[in-house]
Amino acid sequence: MPQSPYDNLLAGVRTELYIGGAWRPAADGARLDVTDPATEATITSVASACVEDAMAAVDAAAAAGPAWAAKKPRERGEILRKAHEIMLREGERLARLMTLENGKSLSDSRAEVAYAAEFFRWNAEEAVRNIGQVSVAPSSGARIVVQHKPSGVAVLVTPWNFPAAMATRKIGPALAAGCTVVLKPASETPLTALALVPILEEAGVPAGVVNVIPSRRSGAVVGGMLKDLRVRVISFTGSTEVGQKLIHAAAENVVKPVMELGGNAPFIVFDDADLDAAVEGALIAKMRNMGEACTSANRFYVHEAVHDAFVEKFAARMKGLKLGNGLEDGVAVGPLVNAETRDKVAELVDDAVAKGAKLVTGGKAVAGAGYFFPATVLTGVPDDARLLREEIFGPVAPIQTFRDEDEIVAKANATEYGLVAYLFTRDLSRGLRVSERLEFGMVGLNRGLVSDPAAPFGGVKQSGLGREGGHEGLMDFLETQYVSVTW
Ligand code: NAD
Repeated sequence: MPQSPYDNLLAGVRTELYIGGAWRPAADGARLDVTDPATEATITSVASACVEDAMAAVDAAAAAGPAWAAKKPRERGEILRKAHEIMLREGERLARLMTLENGKSLSDSRAEVAYAAEFFRWNAEEAVRNIGQVSVAPSSGARIVVQHKPSGVAVLVTPWNFPAAMATRKIGPALAAGCTVVLKPASETPLTALALVPILEEAGVPAGVVNVIPSRRSGAVVGGMLKDLRVRVISFTGSTEVGQKLIHAAAENVVKPVMELGGNAPFIVFDDADLDAAVEGALIAKMRNMGEACTSANRFYVHEAVHDAFVEKFAARMKGLKLGNGLEDGVAVGPLVNAETRDKVAELVDDAVAKGAKLVTGGKAVAGAGYFFPATVLTGVPDDARLLREEIFGPVAPIQTFRDEDEIVAKANATEYGLVAYLFTRDLSRGLRVSERLEFGMVGLNRGLVSDPAAPFGGVKQSGLGREGGHEGLMDFLETQYVSVTW
C-alpha cells in the first residue's frame, strides 16, 4: 500500500470509538473525515458515534462508576499523576498530531500539551483535598457533618480550538472527584482526544472510567445522553449558542450544567502602560492559536496619548509573524481550522473596512489550498463594526482609542459576554480598581495570558456557568451531602 504522508503522525492512534475499555466501530458503521487545514487533504477518518453508541458509553461509565468512586483518593490521584508524566513523555508526538488536525503552530501545540498535562497533575493533587466539615448547629446543638460525593456520570463536550487542554481540563477534575465520563470531542479534532486514550490506559485508568465517542451527530448523541437519568453533569466548552441549547436540554432531568462559552475580550492600554509589555501581552492575547480562542483579545482600546506608538510597534510585530503550515519550524500563524472560520474572519474584516476602518496590515485571506488568513491590524474601527460585538476567532486586531476610565469601563462592559478582559497600566491601584469594575470572570492585569490549571477559569453573563481549574474545578463534579446527627 502506498504510504500516506500522515502515517508517521498517525502511528498508534486508533480511530474507532473507545467504550468500556475496548475499541469498536460505530453501531451503524458511520465514519467522519478529518481534514488537514493546511492542505485541505483528508488525513484519515474516525468512527462517528450514533445514539446507540452513546448509550453504550453511558452504560460503561455507569458500570465503572461505583468501583472508581470507591477507590482511595490517593489511588485516583496517583493514576492522574502518572497520566501527567506519560502525556509529557508523549508530548512531541501529541503536539504534531494536534497541529495536523487543528492547524495551530507547533509552538502553540507544544505549549498546549504542557498546559493540558498540568490539569492531570493539578487534579492529582486536588483528588486528596476533597475536604468536608463538621460544625455545631447553633440552635439544636446537633452536629452538621458535610461531605462531598462524586456526582456520577459526566458527559464532557469539547471544542476544536484546544483539543487536548479542553479534554484534560474536564477529565482531570472529574476523575479526581470519583466521576466516570463520556467525552465527545469536536468533529474537527477527534484525533487528539483519541490519542489521550492509551495515555490514560497506561496510567492505570480502568475500563469504562473514560469513554471517547467522536460523532458528527452531536445534537442527537449528546441530547440522547442527557435524557438518561444516570448522567448527572454536562460539562461543555464551546459556543454560547450550543451552550444555551444544552442548558435547555439539561433542564429536563435537572442535570448540572458546567458551561465554558464564548467571549469578547477587551484589551485596554492606559497612557501610563509599559508599551513594550503591552505589545508583548497583545501578541499573546491575540495570536495564541491564531486568535481561535475564547480568551482571545477581540477589541483593543488604546489611550489616545499612546495609540500611535502602540499601533506602530504592535503592527510591526504582527507583520513579522511567519505564516504557513504549522508543522514547519518558525511558523507562528498556521491555517484557521476550516473554510467557514476563515470566511467569517474575512467577512468581519470587510465589514469593518466598508464602515471606515483603516487596514494597517493583513486583511485578505491567502489564495490557494489551506485556510490561511494573515495577522491583521485595523485602526479607526467604528462602533458599529460587527467585529467589536462578535467573536472574531481569527488573527485580527481591531483598535479604537479612549480618553478616560469611566468611558473605557462602560465600553468594555457593553457586551453580553464576560469571560476575560486584559488591561495594562503601571498604576497598580488603577489596575485593581478597574479590574473590579470589569464584569468579567477573569482579568489579565499587565498580562496577556490568564489560563492556569491552578486558577478558576470561567466567565460571567453569557460566557458561562461554573469554573474549571483551581479548587472550583473539582467542586463542579461533587455533590454536597449534609448529615444532621446528634452524638
Ligand atoms: P461549538 O459550540 O460549535 O462546538 C463545541 C462542541 O459542541 C463540539 O464538540 C461540537 O461537536 C459540539 N456540538 C455542536 N452542536 C451541538 C449540539 N447541538 N449539541 C451538543 N453538542 C454540540 O464550538 P466550537 O466552534 O467547537 O468552538 C468555538 C467556541 O468555543 C467559541 O465560541 C469559543 O469562544 C468557545 N470556547 C470557549 C472556551 C471557554 O472556556 N469559555 C474555551 C474554548 C472555546
